[in-house]
Amino acid sequence: CGIMGYIGCKEAAKIILDGLAKHEYRGYDSAGIAVIKGGEIQEIRTTGRVSVLAEKVAKANFTGELGIGHTRWATHGGVSERNAHPHISSDNRVVLVHNGIIENAREIRTDLEARGIAFHTETDTESAVQYLGYVYDGDPKGAIVKLTKRIRGAFALVIMFYDRPNEIWTARKGSPLVVGHAKGEGFCASDPTALLEYTRDVWFMDDDEIARITREGCEFYDFSGAPHEKKPMHLDWDA
Ligand code: GLU
Repeated sequence: CGIMGYIGCKEAAKIILDGLAKHEYRGYDSAGIAVIKGGEIQEIRTTGRVSVLAEKVAKANFTGELGIGHTRWATHGGVSERNAHPHISSDNRVVLVHNGIIENAREIRTDLEARGIAFHTETDTESAVQYLGYVYDGDPKGAIVKLTKRIRGAFALVIMFYDRPNEIWTARKGSPLVVGHAKGEGFCASDPTALLEYTRDVWFMDDDEIARITREGCEFYDFSGAPHEKKPMHLDWDA
């Protein structure tokens, strides 16, 4: 299971597919990718390999300068295209990928379904994206802070909002996630080796931390939404 996210001025899909391929050694059963262009979230998912996903992307008109990708190791819900990430909220405003397990997903789902929100997958992850769609009122950080108070378990989450073309958000508790920045470009990944060809300046996210990744840089917050300084680490490993 792995995550790759990109925001910049290049085609996101190519960079994300390359990044997902670098996570293949971690094991997975399905893969998917989403981009945002003109306020619209577009996604392509598949069971099987990243190379199959890449073929589907090549055949589609799939373009955008920010996006997120995922390789899934199914824990909740069978291996199917429908259960593959990214997951989109039923109102089409929020899209995310998730590594880990949301322990109280069933309870959140029952609550949201009672409020009229339709679910489309069997995953624990969908409870997080539907909750975000439910609470999002134009303030991404506020919505993510609410989410971190609502969900229990382990997660690395990477999130995009349909009306926020200049930022990607992440939240971490118990699953690895690294954020990186280069001139005009921002990245995130599960494994830092996926970022080495683009940048050596990275921030390893801590538990209970939220990040906002833009083309200009990265900002960090705790789960109450308060900002804090975080020094980047310079990687001098060989790629
Ligand atoms: N629990 C999630 C699922 O089953 C995420 C699994 C993963 O970490 O890949 O879809």
